[in-house]
Amino acid sequence: MNKLIQEIILKKNSNQALTQEEIDLVVKLIHEKKLSDEMIGKFLKSIQKNQFNDAETIFFFDSIYQRSQKIEVKKNASLTLDKHSTGGIGDKTTLVLMPLLAYFGVKTYKLSGVRLGYTGGTIDKLFSFPKIKLNYSREEIFKETTKNDSLICHTMSDVCEIEKKLYHLRTKTNTTKSVDLIVNSILIKKILFQNDILVLDVKVGKGSLFQNTKDIERFVHLTEIICKKYKRKCIIIYSNMNQPLGKAVGNKIEVFESMDVLAGKGPSDVVELVTELCAHSLLQIKKFKNLVETKAKIKKVIASGKVMPFFKALIENQGGEWDALFLNRKLKVKHKITLKSSKKGYFYFKNAEKIGHFLNEISLNNKNVLDFDAGIYFLKKNNDPVAKGEDLFIFYTNKNDIQKLKTKTQNFFEIIEQPKSSEPLIFKKIS
Ligand code: URA
Repeated sequence: MNKLIQEIILKKNSNQALTQEEIDLVVKLIHEKKLSDEMIGKFLKSIQKNQFNDAETIFFFDSIYQRSQKIEVKKNASLTLDKHSTGGIGDKTTLVLMPLLAYFGVKTYKLSGVRLGYTGGTIDKLFSFPKIKLNYSREEIFKETTKNDSLICHTMSDVCEIEKKLYHLRTKTNTTKSVDLIVNSILIKKILFQNDILVLDVKVGKGSLFQNTKDIERFVHLTEIICKKYKRKCIIIYSNMNQPLGKAVGNKIEVFESMDVLAGKGPSDVVELVTELCAHSLLQIKKFKNLVETKAKIKKVIASGKVMPFFKALIENQGGEWDALFLNRKLKVKHKITLKSSKKGYFYFKNAEKIGHFLNEISLNNKNVLDFDAGIYFLKKNNDPVAKGEDLFIFYTNKNDIQKLKTKTQNFFEIIEQPKSSEPLIFKKIS
């Protein structure tokens, strides 16, 4: 059997299209746990190298879908919604958006992942809450969704085993940037959950997983094909990922920032993006009609602090200890390092991807165990003026090689003489 798989990998490596039978065989063997991680890794690399064509992507998707368990969420009169991002730096929108939608009476149930490569994962951020339950069986999900308006679950082994395996191996084999794998990974989680509407936040820029415009267009094209085939309504919003979203990057620190947003004291870009995603969701389900008015309403609600109890409810309904973070805004780290500007000028993120790598470096130990307290807090955003000696950002870590880490920060920012032209946060919307 291994010989046959090797031939399939060779075929893809030599840039030939695979047949439905060949793709199905690989997926079947992954599902039956008959393929080694090494072999799966080689298969993933061959896809990243030569890409699937549209038909191959659909075969791959269908084959995984057929071998995964569909997740029924409790249905009543109202529509249910799911939101996902294609991966970025400092992206805490889910933590704010789910409570916000719950405030407006919209049910959101979703499957999410941990960090992928250099991008953050919502599940890691949520694991900052002691005792939180994020792994649910299919039966438990059904039960929970009869009681609660929001539910967020980790990609589970008994429901979505193949995706869980591939996701894990993609970081290990450095195949996180394959568009075919991204589209499969996101949509399998979305289509398996039987929600009515999917809101996709497609990240564009150096901190996203996409390399260029062609990749993004291909992602959107494949998403549209799969959503059409599986009869799922999808709204796509493109947002800027050339700099982190908000000021906090990490896990616990991003939970703190999400709490700030819901207390009406959060960074304006997070508020802006969440408002956009929320407004389009509410218009889509026909809760409101006018985009401008809806956005104004949402911003007012966020500023009022009235959404915070919905975040608390989401965490507590899933067993998490809300007060452990809400009442104790501390990062338990040995080192709090402040980086200062060496000259006068303007702050600029030259490569947001490198922030993600830096975060991994300050938060993962040699056994890949995550330190939830490690993180970065940026005091400056793109084009902010800085004086010589002014504080730029702070990083929090339990790692000891501080001088080496300080040097690495030079990879992701620069102080420029003149500000660059500013970029929009939200590019466009497709539905
Ligand atoms: N989010 C996912 O769930 N998968 C990806 O591949 C990228 C972002």
